[in-house]
Amino acid sequence: MSSDVSPKSLGPRLRGDEPEGGSDLDDVLADIRACRACLGELPHTPRPVVRVFSETRLLICGQAPGRRVHESGLPFTDPSGDRLRQWLGVDYETFYADHRIGVAAQAFCYPGTAPKGGDYPPPRRCAELWRPRLISALPRMELTLLVGGYSQIWALGEKAKSNMTDTVRSWRDYAPDILPLPHPSWRNTAWLRKNPWFEDEIVPYLRQRVADILTS
Ligand code: SF4
Repeated sequence: MSSDVSPKSLGPRLRGDEPEGGSDLDDVLADIRACRACLGELPHTPRPVVRVFSETRLLICGQAPGRRVHESGLPFTDPSGDRLRQWLGVDYETFYADHRIGVAAQAFCYPGTAPKGGDYPPPRRCAELWRPRLISALPRMELTLLVGGYSQIWALGEKAKSNMTDTVRSWRDYAPDILPLPHPSWRNTAWLRKNPWFEDEIVPYLRQRVADILTS
């Protein structure tokens, strides 16, 4: 099903809003949601969007929320999310209802849109502030998807190739814990046409890994 199912139709637990009570993960999520470290540097009040659970085994790490996600408060409620779910082989309900799937971008707040189009880069501060504590509260993680060039450069450091295409093409170098993906944005439709090996080779591997996680 596509994203015409409103996020508001999901209950608070499915939206990831409902505290589960007292764990390290609950504490770090509460602190992230209260974070205003970038106040004054963003063109709007920060609204951190993160959605992970103690059961999370598949972590999707994009670069930062876009405008529509900033408004919905729920990750990937946009056409990029529809394409990502297609790559994963999961439908809209499963994506939000199955707590084995989590989403924590490199930065949790929408950075704003540049005058020439495209969003500003994610603020580096966010990962430095929050990532180690958040990851240490997710002991069941098996696979992290690095979605887009920013998150790959940030997470892989010197292990990233010289560009996003080469990093994605070298996916075997990072398996089995990490899988780099292109961003599923419509802006990458031409890239997908030009690089059919991605959907021929990597998407089937990704779907199998996701199916294994969701059936065990
Ligand atoms: S982007 Fe990250 S560091 Fe900045 S206000 Fe949002 S949660 Fe805090």
